[in-house]
Amino acid sequence: MKALVCWADGVQFTRGTHEGLPLLSYRCAPRDKLATYRQLRAMGLRPNGSDPVAVLYGRHNRSGKTWFASLYLIANAAPVRPMTPAKWTALAKANLARRICQTCGKDPLYVVPTSTHQCWKCFELNENTEMAEAS
Ligand SMILES: [Zn+2]
Repeated sequence: MKALVCWADGVQFTRGTHEGLPLLSYRCAPRDKLATYRQLRAMGLRPNGSDPVAVLYGRHNRSGKTWFASLYLIANAAPVRPMTPAKWTALAKANLARRICQTCGKDPLYVVPTSTHQCWKCFELNENTEMAEAS
């Protein structure tokens, strides 16, 4: 079967269509142009929101069952977003903010309780003054 495909000029041989996409057998899929999601990940790439352009199919040796896998254009793929320095900084800042005592503004080197947002020193001081005021 011949079909117009988007990864090559002109008409290419396919094995028909599967859910509207050209169906390719494992052997005739152009490995330099198309890749499955797993193959993209192995290359440090992701589909980048693009839809699969073809369906790859093969047969399991043991079970004899046919499997299908979506094929993406490698040209449309984008690198998997790594943790950038800016992201690490933002994360560190968020963690630091959770440690800062809202009363004395110091970093007690532990995450302060979310109920009080105070370090234990200030919390105790508060308790004592409240008790002193009460008596
Ligand atoms: Zn404090």
